[in-house]
Amino acid sequence: MGSPSNDAVPSLSFEIFPPNTQAGAEKIVETLAELQGLSPSFISVTCSNQPQSIETTTIKLAGYITNQLQIPTIAHLPAAYLSKQQVHTILEKLQELGVQRLLALRGDIFPDNPPKTDFHYASELITYIKKQAPQFEISGACYPEIHPDSLNRVTDVKNLKKKTDAGCDRLITQLFFDNEIFYRFQEHCALADIDVPILAGIMPITNRNQALRLIKTSDAKLPRKFLAILEKYEHNPVALRDAGLAYAIDQIIDLVTQDVAGIHLYTMNHASTARSIYQATRSLFGLQAV
Ligand code: FAD
Repeated sequence: MGSPSNDAVPSLSFEIFPPNTQAGAEKIVETLAELQGLSPSFISVTCSNQPQSIETTTIKLAGYITNQLQIPTIAHLPAAYLSKQQVHTILEKLQELGVQRLLALRGDIFPDNPPKTDFHYASELITYIKKQAPQFEISGACYPEIHPDSLNRVTDVKNLKKKTDAGCDRLITQLFFDNEIFYRFQEHCALADIDVPILAGIMPITNRNQALRLIKTSDAKLPRKFLAILEKYEHNPVALRDAGLAYAIDQIIDLVTQDVAGIHLYTMNHASTARSIYQATRSLFGLQAV
C-alpha cells in the first residue's frame, strides 16, 4: 500500500451552455430537471464572448438554475470584450438573482475584433470583482496542456499563480484525455504554491461528429487508446457511445482514486450522458442511487 489516502469526497459538477434555438430552449428545461436529480455540487453555465447576449442567455439561465432548481450555479464571465461598467452591471444583476459564483475568464481574443482595454487577463477581472463585490466566490480556468497563447509551461503556471493571488478560489481545467498530463500539472501547481482545489474537466465522447470536431479543433493530446476507440467504432454509434463513456468513467475512477478535488463534466447539455456517468461512479462521490 502507498501513502494514506485522502478521505475528502470529491465534487461532481456539470457544465451546460445556453441554447440558441427554440427547440434547444425547450429541451434545456428537461435536461436541467434530469441533472437536478443527480445532485450536482454545482452547475456551470458557459457564456459567449459577445457582450450583448450575456443577459438573455447566461444570466437568465444561471438565475433559473439558482432559483427554480435551487442548485448552486457558476456563471461564466469572459471579460476581454467588456468594460468595467458592463462587468459592474452584470455583477449587480447576478446578485439580484442570488447567483453568488463566477468563473472569471479573459475569453478568446479574435484577431479581427480588438478587445476592450479594461481587462487584459482573467487575473485583472478577479482583482476587480474582489474589490467591487467580494461576496462572490470566484473560479478560474486552467490548462494542464498549457494555454495556447503561452510560450511555455513555466510562464503559464506563473501566470496562473497571478490568478490565484488575485483571489481565485478554485480552478477548473480544460478537458484532457490523458490523466498523467493532469497529474504533472498538479505537481507544477504545487511547486508554484498554487494551493486552491483543481477540478478536472472531463468530456465524455459519445458520437462521431463530436469526435471529429475534437480531432480538428482541440489542443488536447489524444492517447493511442482513445484514438483506437474512435477509429474502430467510427461507424457504430452505439458501440462508440458505450466505449466513449467507458473511457471517461475509467479516467474518472483513476482521478478520484488519486484524490482529485472534483470532476467537472463537460456534458454538452446531454443529460443522458451525465446520468450514465453518474450511475457508474456515484458511490465515488458519496452519492445515492436515483
Ligand atoms: P487568462 O487566465 O487571462 O490567460 C490567457 C493567456 O494569458 C494565458 O496564456 C496566460 O498564460 C496569459 N496570461 C495570464 N495572465 C498574464 C499576465 N499577467 N501577463 C502575461 N500573460 C498572462 N470561453 C468563453 O468564451 N466562454 C466560456 O464560457 C468559457 N468557459 C471556459 C471554462 C473552462 C473551464 C475553461 C478551461 C475555458 C473556458 N473558456 C471559455 C475558454 C477561455 O475563455 C479561453 O481559453 C481564453 O483564451 C483564456 O481565458 P482565461 O480566463 O483562461 O485567460
